[in-house]
Amino acid sequence: MSITLGETITLKSLSICYNQRMENLPTATTVACSQCGGELHPEVGQVFLICPYCSSTVYIDKSQVVFHWYVAPTLDEKQARAALARWMAGNQTVKDLDRKAQISEVSFAYFPMWLFKYRKPDEKDELLLVPAAATSVSEIKNLILPPGDLRKPTAEIDHAAQAPTVPLETALAWLGQRQITAEQIIEKALVHVPVYTFKYFFNSRTYTALVEGASGGVFANLFPAKAEAPFLLIGGATALIYLCLATFPAMGALQSGASGLGIGLLICSGAGLVIAPILFVIAAWIAAKI
Ligand SMILES: [Zn+2]
Repeated sequence: MSITLGETITLKSLSICYNQRMENLPTATTVACSQCGGELHPEVGQVFLICPYCSSTVYIDKSQVVFHWYVAPTLDEKQARAALARWMAGNQTVKDLDRKAQISEVSFAYFPMWLFKYRKPDEKDELLLVPAAATSVSEIKNLILPPGDLRKPTAEIDHAAQAPTVPLETALAWLGQRQITAEQIIEKALVHVPVYTFKYFFNSRTYTALVEGASGGVFANLFPAKAEAPFLLIGGATALIYLCLATFPAMGALQSGASGLGIGLLICSGAGLVIAPILFVIAAWIAAKI
């Protein structure tokens, strides 16, 4: 009996070896097209493919075949720089960042994102993007795809495109955590998005900002933001000064009755009138500076 058991194990491990070898053979791998179901025969290591039957462009993940699209860039590097400068001059960032930041590096790449179309419980469809590669700027997940701008990639784009490193299964598991079930997902695709990566130097620190090459949208996780501390400080100081002033009439009344109250009120309103414009000037100065 023990011999039979041993034989079974040997046979099993043999068949595993055989299967693995089969998978590595170029001709043995067959996958079905996500559009027409036609048999595709990718070569070893080939992930981008054009279906010979329906000419769909597909990406072959470990687990399945999905559509592959790209977003055509509409901005050249100069226009991307201009988009970045507008963001730097905007309200989110520290004053004059557009003039003070020194851009040290610019690079262009097609960044991979998993695109999911899913049906919400209210029957409405929604698109969701999940980064398909590691990025220091996770904000890119907030990217909104320009509608109708998904195109079929060419061999050149496939060559320039950054390969996905986050497996589709991982992205699907993440959707599961967000209570989006596999049944709700109507469409899965790999989308390569044109992205300019800018590195810039400000106040002895290097920051990274991404400019999406189709819409000019800017994405950054860390950036020199408008500081709130000085505003809180001036607000706190104002409250404290007026609280102190308000005690003058009370103290006056306690010390010498009605006349004391009168003097206290006089000091209070007089000082208040003098201090108010000073505080206002300080606040205005801080607002202009930051
Ligand atoms: Zn096909």
